[in-house]
Amino acid sequence: MSLFIFSPFLTAYMLALAFVVGACMGSFVLCAVTRKIERRSMFERSCCPFCGRKLSATDLFPIFSFLFLKGRCRYCKQKLGVKYLLVEVLFALGYLGLFARFGLSLDALKFIILFTLLAAASLNDIITNEIPDLLLIFSAADFLVFSLLGAEPLKTVLSGILCGVGFGAAILILVLIMDRIFKRETMGGGDIKMFAVLGLFFGPAEMLLLIISSCVFGLIFSFASKKGLWKTFPFAPSLTLAAYFCALAAKPIISWYFGLFVL
Ligand SMILES: [Zn+2]
Repeated sequence: MSLFIFSPFLTAYMLALAFVVGACMGSFVLCAVTRKIERRSMFERSCCPFCGRKLSATDLFPIFSFLFLKGRCRYCKQKLGVKYLLVEVLFALGYLGLFARFGLSLDALKFIILFTLLAAASLNDIITNEIPDLLLIFSAADFLVFSLLGAEPLKTVLSGILCGVGFGAAILILVLIMDRIFKRETMGGGDIKMFAVLGLFFGPAEMLLLIISSCVFGLIFSFASKKGLWKTFPFAPSLTLAAYFCALAAKPIISWYFGLFVL
């Protein structure tokens, strides 16, 4: 159900809610990922990494606390990394975009869950150069549950599995050939599995657009990181961004492209 059938006030309220929920989830996911990597408990109170003071709820309110405190700890005034603000803003805009695109629907919820998991995988990849299998398994479960809830569940599940396995295998073969040519690992196993999982959600034409756009994002990140094209760098963020782009825009782009050939 499109959001824009509601009154402008209610539409604005729901979009603002999506933004705030997104920011809170961004804060939670970054905290969960870093604590999992550092093997710390999820239940301990957050504290300043410099002075160790326990942070209160007002210090932890996503985006607003960072802006209000000018990115510094309230107690010792040390500068906190801008990564907190960046992750929270990206999540907030991500949720806002999906909610505006899919409205009040199961598709909105399906993609919000998918992108939360993919973003967690990307943060993990950035910090450790690894994509946890568990996040990919949860993503596949997300596909399965929402396919069974939708129309024509059997057809959706079978075509999704066919596309996922097909694209996963095609990328694997391509990577094995490239590894032979360049005599080094050109893509990690986690990235190949992530391609296969995305094949569950997107059709063949969307997957082709996803592959092209992930390469474009990968090139941009590679130049931005100044590591050079031939150095290892995490690819999951490029894949996540490309998948997000395809979820929002693939259908109109593909219809426009095929429309070019219709006289
Ligand atoms: Zn401090």
